[in-house]
Formats: sequence, structure tokens, C-alpha cells
Amino acid sequence: MEKIMTLMNPQFLLREVLKNERTITFSETVREKDTIYDVLIISDDVSPIKLYINNKNGTISKLETKTNHMILRDIVLRATYKNWKKAESVRFPMQVDIAVSGNKLLHQLHESVVENPELEEGYFAFPKKVDGLTKDSTAYNKGLRTHHIHDEFFEIAGLYYIEEVSLEATKLASGIYEVRDNSSNHLGGMIVEYEKGVVVIEAHTSEDVSKELLKIVQKNFPDKAITHLIQSHHHVDHASGVRAVVSLGSELIIGKGTGDWWENVLKAESTIRPDEMSSSSVSPTVTEVDYNDKWTLSDGNVYITVYHVSDNPHASDMLITKVEKDNQIFLYEADLYNAGFGFTMAYGGPESLFKALRKFELIDSDCKSQQPFTIIPGHGKPVTIGQAISELGQLGIAIDCGTE
Ligand SMILES: [Zn+2]
Repeated sequence: MEKIMTLMNPQFLLREVLKNERTITFSETVREKDTIYDVLIISDDVSPIKLYINNKNGTISKLETKTNHMILRDIVLRATYKNWKKAESVRFPMQVDIAVSGNKLLHQLHESVVENPELEEGYFAFPKKVDGLTKDSTAYNKGLRTHHIHDEFFEIAGLYYIEEVSLEATKLASGIYEVRDNSSNHLGGMIVEYEKGVVVIEAHTSEDVSKELLKIVQKNFPDKAITHLIQSHHHVDHASGVRAVVSLGSELIIGKGTGDWWENVLKAESTIRPDEMSSSSVSPTVTEVDYNDKWTLSDGNVYITVYHVSDNPHASDMLITKVEKDNQIFLYEADLYNAGFGFTMAYGGPESLFKALRKFELIDSDCKSQQPFTIIPGHGKPVTIGQAISELGQLGIAIDCGTE
């Protein structure tokens, strides 16, 4: 909140300079298009802040600093200030725009400014839950170093992102676990043991959660390395732990369309919040699964098959994974159908999932499987195919199961 307030009102930075809480140094004079700017550098605990002062009228035009994005790591945060107007004694920008990594995330227009208004006591008080956060707490420092000017998918207003949740492992079959977090997201993944190692499906929500996942793997399979990480798609709640897993040398399996993006993510600098990947000497291997192709791994005992669900409303790189062992099938899918959750993420998601299951012949045209078939959803809880069709029916979503 403090950070957003400061970004909205860069005068606060100057006030802190006057109070000797920050230092200020002149860096250089630059020309951009027809305007000349004096660039000042203000000290900051996270990353130095560059202020661009319009050389002609002395107003702050632009601010640039670095922050951490949970997947992209170091990113540039830029705020621009336009239309400075005098309120009573102080001038304010009537338009503020904020962008991270070049993507515009916030556009705010101010209609009027009142100096020192009378406000009820506690007007700006934090909710009780976060009130206990002190400036030297780990959570405070993580928050300070992480971009929360979010308007990205599922990061609305920064309230959503929970970095620290605990995981619970449930055994589905010998050598196969479902790993799910205890937050309201019920975000889950899978661990599958095979002869030569362990395959992890879904890296989870953050580096910290991913490290917990690694501990679970270590505890259950102490002699085996994670050879592969299968990532359903690139969204921040599912994929922010990818770098932590890949830093150990695991091959990353992703859907066609995001290969270059992942290559960049894996080599991105992470100086604001150094992570395991930033000090790892591993050169990552990224394998894309093509639209009509599949990726397989088997030791003759467990069979893993990954398919690309190109035709879906949620993400262009969407993968589903079939794990088959002892004549049972476990199908991992994320965000197409939040099984057992009572709602479903994307309109058209369940239909596209069932269409893919039929296309890849995982179920027949009547939506039946010869073997016991359990859907392990990215959010929610495991359900059988029959339970899935019945839940979707109750939600008013009719799945075409060849009944016509
Ligand atoms: Zn998603």
C-alpha cells in the first residue's frame, strides 16, 4: 500500500529526501524526443529509483525502478505523471499511468485534489489480518520486493497472491501422490515415481511452496531425482515455482507456444529476490509438446502421456497429463474444470476438456473408460469421470457424451 501511494504521489519521495530518509543524486541529462530531462536517482531499499524531471518546467515526468515478478523475476516498473495542476499549495499530477515490463497496468485520472482533508480516524487502517506485519518481517520484505500493482490474470489488486501455503500429499497409488495446498485455491499437482526418477506435475504457486514440494519428493523418494517437470500452463498461480524445480536440473515439459517465453524466464535475472535458479549452474532443457503430438515416459510399469489441449478458452499452452498404473488412470488437468469445487473457471473449459479426452481416446464417445478413471484437477479435488459428468450436469453444463 505504501508503495502504491508513493508511486501515485512521487512528491512523497522528495519529502523523504528532505527528512534524510533517502538520498538523492544527480545522474545525467537525457533527451527523449523533444524533451530534456534531468535524471535524479533516489535511494531505495529494493532498487534505486530514477526520477525524470522535465528540464523546462521542473515537474516529475517519469519514474523508473525494478521490482520482482513471481515468474518473470526482475522487471522494470515505470510510472508516468501528466498534467500537473496546483491544488492549494502543492502541485499534483492529474494523470498517473503505471506499467510493468512495458505492459500498462494502471491508468488513473484525478478530478480534484483536496489538501489535508478531514478523515475519520482509522480511514487508512490496514485490515486486522495484516496489521501485525512489521517492517522487519519476512512477509513485509517479500511484499516490498514484489510487484503488486497487479492487474494480471488472478493477481487482482495484489490481494490474491499467497506465497506461503502448506502442502498435503495424498497417495493415489503406489509411487503416485496428489499434492495439494491448504489455501482457498486448493491448488494441486502430482508426483509420479518411475524406475529412473520422479516426475512432478505442476510447480505450484511460489518458490517457497515449490521448496515444500521438493521436500515431499525427497521424503518419499530419497534416492531419486526429479527428472521432469510437466507444467500444465504458464499462469502465475500454477507456475511460479518452475524455476525452483528446474534449478535442480529437471527437464521442463510445456505446451507449444510458450517455449521461447519459458527460455527467457529460466535465464531471467533475479536480483531483487534472488532465487535458487539465479545461483544454479544448470542449463535448462525445455521441451514443447506440439498440438497433435504427445510426450511420453514409461518404465513398463507406469505410463505418463502428455497432450496439448490447443482448443480451449483458458491458455494457449494448455497440457493435460495421463498417468496410468496398475490398470488405473489419473488425469491431471488445470483450470478447464475445477472438479469438486462447485464452479468452474473458464466458460467452455469443461466442454474443451471432454472434447480433448475423446479426441485423444482417453474416454470413448460415451465418455466411458475401460479402466477406473480419476480426474486430478488443478484446483478442487479428485473426481471420477462419472462424478465429473454429474457435477457438470448440476452446474448446467451439458457434456456431449454421444447420447444423441
Ligand atoms: Zn490458469
